[in-house]
Amino acid sequence: MNKEALYYEKLEDKKVRCSLCPHYCIIKDGKIGICMGKENKGGILYSKNYALTTSVAVDPIEKKPLYHFYPGTDILSISPNSCNLSCKFCQNWQISQMEAPTQYLSPERAVELAKKYNSIGISYTYTEPLTWYEYILDTAGMAKREGLKNVLVTNGFINEEPLLKILPLIDAMNIDVKSMDGSFYRKICSAQLAPVLKTVELSQKSCHVEITNLIITTLNDSDELFHKLTDWLASVNPNIPLHFSRYFPNYKLSLPPTPLDTLKRARDIAANKINYVYVGNVREIEWNNTYCHNCKKLIISREGYSVAEKNYHEGKCNFCGTALPIIG
Ligand code: SF4
Repeated sequence: MNKEALYYEKLEDKKVRCSLCPHYCIIKDGKIGICMGKENKGGILYSKNYALTTSVAVDPIEKKPLYHFYPGTDILSISPNSCNLSCKFCQNWQISQMEAPTQYLSPERAVELAKKYNSIGISYTYTEPLTWYEYILDTAGMAKREGLKNVLVTNGFINEEPLLKILPLIDAMNIDVKSMDGSFYRKICSAQLAPVLKTVELSQKSCHVEITNLIITTLNDSDELFHKLTDWLASVNPNIPLHFSRYFPNYKLSLPPTPLDTLKRARDIAANKINYVYVGNVREIEWNNTYCHNCKKLIISREGYSVAEKNYHEGKCNFCGTALPIIG
C-alpha cells in the first residue's frame, strides 16, 4: 500500500528530494531511495511499504534491549522491509538489505494485536523503523490513544524536523551508537555519526532512551573509542543505560566474534562514568543484572530475556530508597 511521504520536495523533471533522513536522496521518477522504503511515482514520493510488515512477533521488552522500561513485560514487534544504513555486519540483512516477503497490517490491526496479546504496546524494530515514518505516525497515534506504549529500536539516522514531530508519540527508544568514529559510519555503514548523536541528545529530553553499541573485533573496539562514548554519554545523561553487545559474523563481515575480554574492558571503562552498563549477546548473567547506582545492591536479576527478581518499588530501590531511572 502506498501513502504519500511527508518529507520531500519536488524538483525538475519529476525528480524529488527526500528529506526524512540525512541521505537526502534525489529520486528519479520510477525509482526508489537508498532505504527501499520510498518510491517516486510520477513526481510524487510515496511511502512504498506503508502498513507492510516483514514480521509480527511478541518479544520480551528486554530483547530490544530495553532494561529500564517496564522490565519483564512483552511487546508486539513489527518491522518494515527497509533501512537507510547498509552496515556490513547487519544481523537482520535478509529483511533490511533486500526485498523480503511482507504482510499487510493496518494501524488498527496492529493496535488490536497488541491488546490481544497483552503487550504493553508496539515496538517498531528489527530493521530501521524510521524509514516507515508515515505508518508509525498513524499507528503510534492510534496506539497512544488506546493507552499503549510506542517503542522505537532505531539507528537514529533521521533529520531533526521529522524526529521532533514523531517524538511526542514515542515512549521509549533504543538507539544504536555504532561507533564514536565518523569514518566507521562512513566506511562500514554508509552513514554519518553526527546526526545519530543529535538524535540521542534530542530524544532523551522527550522519552526514555537506552543506547546499544555493538563491539566488532578490530573495527570499533579501542579504549579510545570506549572512553569517547562514555564521556559523551555521561555529558548527555549518566543515567541512560548503555548496552554493549557482542558481535558475531554476519552478512558481509567474517571477523571473529568479539572476545569476552574486550567486552569486559568496555564495560569497565564505561562503568566509571555511566550508572547502568550492560553486556548483551553473552551468557555472563551478572553483566545483565541491574544494580542500584547508589547502594550497588541487586535490584533486577535476569535470566536470558526473563526477569527473575525485582527489588524495587514505585521507582525506588528497596534497600536504600534511592530513586531509580526505571519506568514501570
Ligand atoms: S528516508 Fe530513504 S529515501 Fe529518504 S533520504 Fe533517507 S534513505 Fe533516502
